[in-house]
Amino acid sequence: MPPSVPYRGRIAPTPTGFLHLGHARTFSLAAERCRQAAGTLILRIEDLDTQRCKKHFAEAALEDLKSIGIAWHEGPDLGGPCSPYVQSENAAYFLEIWKRLKDAGAIYPCRRSRKDVAAAARAPHAEDEDAEPIFPPEWRPSDPDFGKDFADPGDYNWRFRVPDGEIITFCDAIQGPQNFVAGKDFGDFVVWRRDGVPAYELAVVADDIRMGITEVVRGADLLKSTARQILIYRALGATPPVWAHAPLILDENGKRLAKRSDALSVRTLLARGIKI
Ligand code: GLU
Repeated sequence: MPPSVPYRGRIAPTPTGFLHLGHARTFSLAAERCRQAAGTLILRIEDLDTQRCKKHFAEAALEDLKSIGIAWHEGPDLGGPCSPYVQSENAAYFLEIWKRLKDAGAIYPCRRSRKDVAAAARAPHAEDEDAEPIFPPEWRPSDPDFGKDFADPGDYNWRFRVPDGEIITFCDAIQGPQNFVAGKDFGDFVVWRRDGVPAYELAVVADDIRMGITEVVRGADLLKSTARQILIYRALGATPPVWAHAPLILDENGKRLAKRSDALSVRTLLARGIKI
């Protein structure tokens, strides 16, 4: 048997607020799976949305993670071979990935706003609380080379041209077999925002590739995003990691804890002497 690739896992908070119980559970699971595999755990701060992300929340995230006993091997505080570990410090790299996707004909510039899409589209499934309106396929440029001559993203949203009707399948290490239909469960999604910020789907794949991540552990709310991200891996000619989506914590009414405005922060719980 060939020697297996050493495990590299990551925890990747977005510092838009204090970490809550849902984060604590997902990140603890990520740390535990990494420990069991005798792997390397990376801490990455996903702060590309500078409007919503705040430095003090990033600092608080590091403190809170340490308070609940999570330790990492590489990160903004420790450094490591994959520096920078803070996404906002790596604009040139994300631009390089934008260029690769553009040159491959996988993405195109688009002037339609979220509002336009919401007004025109139907939601994929009413019962799906993450349902994002589907970008109408008739708005997609028919010329597969449209946008290839751009030297930079300019003042446009850039969308990924999804293969309508293709079933994207993967076997999740926790949730089991998954499948999503491109064009039905999700449509052409934004990878680059017209305000010059790489969108989550591009940034997360770009950094997971750059950091050599072998397993992604995150919340089950991102299962559909994984299907989108598999398409980005394919367009970049890269191998996706193993996926492991942690169950979400729900409140007594079945509502996702993270969605509640009063979701208790890790620091509040610790201050009240509650063991997490
Ligand atoms: N930064 C994302 C979040 O805090 C996590 C993304 C991921 O793990 O892929 O929700």
